[in-house]
Amino acid sequence: MKVGTLTVENRDNAKVISGYVGNFPLWYRMPKDIEVDQHDGTFLIISAIFPAMLLQQDIYLDETLYMSQCVYEKLDQIQRTFTYFNPAFKPIKVHAKTQATSAASLGRTAFFSGGVDGAYTAAKYRDSLENLVLINGFDFNMDDEQWQQMAARAQKSADTLNMRLICIETNMKEFTSWVGITRFVNFGAMLASVGGLLKASEIIISGAVTFDRIFESGSHPLLDTLWSTETTYVNHDGLEADRTRKLAYLKQYPALLENLWVCWKTPTSNCGKCSKCVRTFISTYLNEIENIPFETQPQLSDIKKLHIKSEEEFYFFEVFLNDAIKNNMPELQKKLVWLRLKYNLRKSLVEIDEVYFGRAFHKFKRRRLSLASDITDLHIKARYTDKYKIEDLEKKQNIKESLPSVVEIGTIYG
Ligand SMILES: [Zn+2]
Repeated sequence: MKVGTLTVENRDNAKVISGYVGNFPLWYRMPKDIEVDQHDGTFLIISAIFPAMLLQQDIYLDETLYMSQCVYEKLDQIQRTFTYFNPAFKPIKVHAKTQATSAASLGRTAFFSGGVDGAYTAAKYRDSLENLVLINGFDFNMDDEQWQQMAARAQKSADTLNMRLICIETNMKEFTSWVGITRFVNFGAMLASVGGLLKASEIIISGAVTFDRIFESGSHPLLDTLWSTETTYVNHDGLEADRTRKLAYLKQYPALLENLWVCWKTPTSNCGKCSKCVRTFISTYLNEIENIPFETQPQLSDIKKLHIKSEEEFYFFEVFLNDAIKNNMPELQKKLVWLRLKYNLRKSLVEIDEVYFGRAFHKFKRRRLSLASDITDLHIKARYTDKYKIEDLEKKQNIKESLPSVVEIGTIYG
């Protein structure tokens, strides 16, 4: 897989950086004054690792470019981790000129989407953090209006803390879909690569889990830091506090709470209905916080309607239940106990079906489902449809011409 054709262009209002990962064009728009090393292809190598491992193709970086020696030395360890998570990722070699990356031009920097984790990090490091980075094209592809609204909201939080807000527009999400992987696989790596591109001395990725409950993820405290270059230390931070404790800490920053955005459904407001909104509501209820804006105010009765989908998610509710017991909140406790019962019952039924009935019920449920409709993007854990996603990627990669980026990403750079 060839990687390179890096261009750095200063347009009227923004700097545009683009390069190719195979035949896919990856691009970033950012403020003009950000210094970028136009010979440093590390961010492209980091992005390319995932498709290259799936295709079992070595990576060849343009001879005009170099990559960070420090990242190069850790590539084997990084790849072993992904192979361990999902054997569909096979180790490959990277052929590139290597050297130390150039001196930092930005100080301590953290990603910030306006959510609980990012707001907590920003507040915690208010004395030393200089920049917050907000991205369009990462979680959501926002149009002009949505993006301007989100940027304005984040700007208010940045102003409160006296920090600079750096807005980045990119087709990263389009790239992840093109590879056929879920965002969960490469989000730590992609964020780390942006930190390196910005030449920040430190880039902080705010973790969502706590030290006692770390699980396999493309953004992981042991993994994210391996993407550190000579210039940029990648710090996966915030594992000392769960969501409820982070919100308790944020109580002293009402301006941050009023600007909080946590929703999985819409980028412009908190719907109050999705599981992330309801989870945040439980934390606010436990903390007696009332100034977080929801479109529809969640109620305790909404908890019973939730469906816990994974062990990781189940853990969040276990913590809530412990807190509800500790805080003597019987109404909340009842709803959480019901939710836990529902989850455990479902899990037991699946086990019984598997062990005693050879998955007969599962097969009956899926009998009308075609293979095509059961194929999902490749995840951090192996799934039987992974091989079909890899075949798709092979076909896309075999197209000789370079592809255009077709996604519409709203801009604040006019
Ligand atoms: Zn929501």
